[in-house]
Amino acid sequence: MHIVVCIKQVPKTLDVRIDPVTNNLIREGMESTINMFDENALEEALLLRDKFGGKISVISMGPPQAKEALRKALAMGADEAYLFCDRALGGADVLATAYTLAQGVKQLMPVDLILCGRHAVDADTGQVGPELAELLGWPQATLVHRLEHDDDRITVWRECEEGMAVWELPLPAVVTVGKEINKPRYPTPIGIIRSGKKPITVWGAKELDVDEDKIGLVGSPTRVTRLFSPERTSHVEMLTGGAEQVASLLVAKLREHKIQV
Ligand SMILES: Cc1cc2nc3c(=O)[nH]c(=O)nc-3n(C[C@H](O)[C@H](O)[C@H](O)COP(=O)(O)OP(=O)(O)OC[C@H]3O[C@@H](n4cnc5c(N)ncnc54)[C@H](O)[C@@H]3O)c2cc1C
Repeated sequence: MHIVVCIKQVPKTLDVRIDPVTNNLIREGMESTINMFDENALEEALLLRDKFGGKISVISMGPPQAKEALRKALAMGADEAYLFCDRALGGADVLATAYTLAQGVKQLMPVDLILCGRHAVDADTGQVGPELAELLGWPQATLVHRLEHDDDRITVWRECEEGMAVWELPLPAVVTVGKEINKPRYPTPIGIIRSGKKPITVWGAKELDVDEDKIGLVGSPTRVTRLFSPERTSHVEMLTGGAEQVASLLVAKLREHKIQV
């Protein structure tokens, strides 16, 4: 079984810098980490490999510093790592990101399963996994809490409005997971030492065989036109005094606001 895990490097803090012209995140020089749900995706891949054998490739599209995230994934136990890194890939929106990742996956075929996080904690659209499935023409399941593999198919338990739905999917497929699915392992000292010896392959636009009109800023139909923190419109008023006094003040306030008591 060949499993590809998509790893996004995200800012470690919420104190991020935004490019005032493009409204994109300035990733250079920022302290970063693996998107937390991607660690769950990798853990699920490791559990499947422990049980059924095979190989895990981790892929990321990002600047050179995204190698750190891939190095950690190798230390956790992934077999191979690929960084898709090229100036031409910069400024990608979801569609261009998914297209680039799909092109990378095509170079890694045969692939049986792609695991992604349910969403990235920075841009947070949750669309990369589903778009990846669409571009590859593969079945997909999002928000998966439990996954079982049997022969050429998987069974997934996925969150839905009414509760939990159980689906069977033929392989190859794309699955996105959240923190409910497992508890990611920590890299062991041996894992960290071994990861230093594993190469991280870097592919640019040429190696990915991408259509230049579909990548980076040029290939991105989405424009983030404005970023702002919403203004607070609510305020809190503390009522003080004895219990009876506070109760009658509260009733008066509710009546004042035409709330029936
Ligand atoms: C503040 C801000 C807002 C943005 N808003 C939008 C927007 O509204 N629309 C839009 O199209 N773009 C937006 N972008 C651009 C956005 O950064 C890219 O679209 C991004 O690469 C993918 O979207 P996401 O982070 O929402 O991924 P999600 O779809 O939330 O991520 C889900 C999973 O996909 C995988 N994944 C995602 N990105 C990568 C990657 N680069 N490499 C490997 N795996 C990956 C991971 O497994 C991740 O857990 C925004 C960027 C910023 C900084």
